Amino acid sequence: METNTQSFSSWNDQILSELLSARERERFRKIPNIEYRRGARLAIDGREVISFCGNDYLGLSQHEEVKRTFQEAAKQHGVGSGAARLIMGSSSIHQALETKLAEIKNKEKSVLYSTGYLANVGVLSALAGRDDVIVMDKLCHASIIDGARLSGATVRVFPHLNYSTCEAILKNTSRFRRRLLVSETVFSMDGDVANLEELIRLKQQYDCLFVVDDAHGLGVLGPKGMGAAADKNIAEKVDAVVGTLSKGLGCIGGFVAGSEAIVEYLVNFSRPFIFATSLPPAVCQAALAALEVLEKDEPLRNRLWANVHRSAGILETLGVGANVLTPIIPIILGSEKAALEASQGLYEKGVLISAIRPPTVPANTSRLRLTLSALHTDADFLTLESALSCLPEIKAKEKIGENFVK
Ligand SMILES: *Cc1c(COP(=O)(O)O)cnc(C)c1O
Repeated sequence: METNTQSFSSWNDQILSELLSARERERFRKIPNIEYRRGARLAIDGREVISFCGNDYLGLSQHEEVKRTFQEAAKQHGVGSGAARLIMGSSSIHQALETKLAEIKNKEKSVLYSTGYLANVGVLSALAGRDDVIVMDKLCHASIIDGARLSGATVRVFPHLNYSTCEAILKNTSRFRRRLLVSETVFSMDGDVANLEELIRLKQQYDCLFVVDDAHGLGVLGPKGMGAAADKNIAEKVDAVVGTLSKGLGCIGGFVAGSEAIVEYLVNFSRPFIFATSLPPAVCQAALAALEVLEKDEPLRNRLWANVHRSAGILETLGVGANVLTPIIPIILGSEKAALEASQGLYEKGVLISAIRPPTVPANTSRLRLTLSALHTDADFLTLESALSCLPEIKAKEKIGENFVK
């Protein structure tokens, strides 16, 4: 018998054709070649630009005290942790950080993950299963979506911040064993903020396990910058708070804070916790130092907010009225092409603001995602203003007076 090889196209051709199609749809992505980073400035392909697209809101990744702590801890404890936590990759530093994170989040306990991404995947895939339903905001982060999928639970999505639809969905979930209600505090691509009081009301009325992702809240919102859900009155009604050490704290890693039972459950059943090598102890020590800076250095947090308000003022002047609630400010341009061209235009003027495109955001909402940091200086804002005012996309909108900041 003759084998028919023609009906099989090679896997390599399939991959190449998908890449080509991504290019044709302006969705091809490339890792930028970054040579150094100093303050909010960095060099890409030999050109120095000011970054307005990082998540290092307080500049703690470059803070002298945090760096010194990291170096000293690495000298003492080495680089890698050697294994997963349950084997031999734990230390008193991991435990001290978990105690501290639980304390700032007003929860009984917390558990570390290697990244925030893994924390979301880990908490949802452990706490939900085939007999359960996960009800979540449409704009939740990819790591929440991936965790929900991996859990095998039924997933129901409500339109962004639309809590009446959320309630309508919850009304029809009595056949499930367990209901998980999931939202971010600060939404990573829109910079707007969930109504936690309303979500808590729904959680209580429909007896849900309530999970919030506070990745962009830590360092930015709440008492002493400890996060949007850190206030005691809110914290006691949130069952699991997911956080990251990688953004406002300028380090790397993620965590989940919750009751003793939830944290013990994760330690026993959450595969991304069990099967990944733990964070380096030096990273945990650096995160502790970053938390201390955050707690004590109120002027640093004030500088971040002064910079947020300053950029809001610049956008206002340019006719791009903005409802600015957080250091994340989206400038919606629509098509992938428009966002890419605007980003390229800014880059040529020395400003780095990346274009955010589908699948990260919904179709036709491609945007510039402007983020602020305490590291930005007066000179940086002058450059930002002049670069933005040169953009044809901004000029066009200015003329018709359209408000295109969400
Ligand atoms: C960045 C982010 C994460 C993932 O955190 P990492 O520490 O970067 O892996 C999770 N949730 C949200 C909302 C995020 O923006």
